[in-house]
Amino acid sequence: MNVADSQRVASALEKLGYEDTEKPANADVIILNTCVVRQSAEDKAIGRLSSLQPLKKQNPNLVINLMGCLVGVKNNPVLEKRFPYVDVFSPPSDPEPLITHLLEKEGRSHEIDTTEMRFAFMDGDLVLPDGDKGNLISSFVPVVLGCSHACTYCIIPYRRGIEKSRPPIEILAESESLVKQGVKEITLLGQIVDRYGKDNGDYPTLGGLMRRMHTIDGLERIRFLTSHPSYMTDELLDTVAEFPKVMPHIEVPIQAGNDQVLENMRRGYTNSQYRELVHKIRERIPGVSIATDIIVGFPGETQAQFQDTYDLLADLKLDVAHLARYSPRTGTVSERRMEDNVPDEEKWERFRLLEELQEGIVTQIHATYPNQTVPVLFEEKGRKGRWRGRTETNKLVFVESDQDLRGKLKPVKITWTGPWSMLAELV
Ligand code: SAH
Repeated sequence: MNVADSQRVASALEKLGYEDTEKPANADVIILNTCVVRQSAEDKAIGRLSSLQPLKKQNPNLVINLMGCLVGVKNNPVLEKRFPYVDVFSPPSDPEPLITHLLEKEGRSHEIDTTEMRFAFMDGDLVLPDGDKGNLISSFVPVVLGCSHACTYCIIPYRRGIEKSRPPIEILAESESLVKQGVKEITLLGQIVDRYGKDNGDYPTLGGLMRRMHTIDGLERIRFLTSHPSYMTDELLDTVAEFPKVMPHIEVPIQAGNDQVLENMRRGYTNSQYRELVHKIRERIPGVSIATDIIVGFPGETQAQFQDTYDLLADLKLDVAHLARYSPRTGTVSERRMEDNVPDEEKWERFRLLEELQEGIVTQIHATYPNQTVPVLFEEKGRKGRWRGRTETNKLVFVESDQDLRGKLKPVKITWTGPWSMLAELV
């Protein structure tokens, strides 16, 4: 989501006539877009922000913009006091404060009406930053902003505000504009993407939205993330199964395998409901790949409760598990009402156990790929001169070739697989 937000700010700046530069010391404007989903992300953001202070001393004309979840949707006087050298504070997904500041600074306020700029500023006309034009094969399009679910551990609803779906017209226009600039794959984003349209009676469902996107000429692939188990409808699964541009890859976090922990997290489903969902997804979409997220060491999580998570992963054999150690976030329900009582070493140990389990599972899954011929969309030539692309199931594939494969969708034969990537040759 932050990658998408940053790209939109870059696009807005290019429209004002700004260019990108590699070196912060050469910049007139520096934007730091931030994540605070875990303490480690917040610490990193603060560290980077502090490292910018000397640049501001050297060049008082430099504009520093702090953006994203460290700022949040409300005014944040504590942050403003702590970082007086920051010129502009912007909420997530919102280029308006920066653009207004720059226009005023340059005496160009009359040029653009920045009211209601939040995301709508492009009117679907998202011009990719110069470096990305013709190079960016896969791009993100946010379709649901904010989140209203309030999982007890999660800070995102407090910082990104309430759930709001973007109008389908805007999403379609933006997608068409991206495809005209060379994009072949679009990933629709939302904190709970399968809730798309549920906050507005006039909007289609996520399935309906993707069926409309399916008609965009030149768009080869459509993906979506992240889904919540409670909102995965049959209609959505049917759309994935029946529309060839919609990729058979589902990101659907479970977070924990124990029912009491799930209730404490306020996730709204049980272990057995999640298992049933995975069976249904696999039945309806043969060959599908499934990714999940897991938090270990949630307040009060016992050894036995953790074992339920371990067993679930061992049984379901999912393609990807994004693992995290519980991190208390200021202001969330779990931070205020539950003691962070699983010791750090224990969190690390549970993390390690799942990591090891999952590596074995994914190695086995990938071992079924060699000698198969599968379509791969190529994105760029990486280090070592190999082309990098992805299968429909979102597996990373490298191919050695002298041809220009950027943006090409080609059948390849898989020759080698490891847990994190595969090698292949063009057929
Ligand atoms: N809205 C999306 C993404 C949330 S952030 C979703 O629900 O999937 C991505 C992941 O970070 C979450 O899925 C969760 O596993 C993890 N996460 C969120 N808050 C956390 C916290 N306080 N401590 C540790 N991990 C957390």
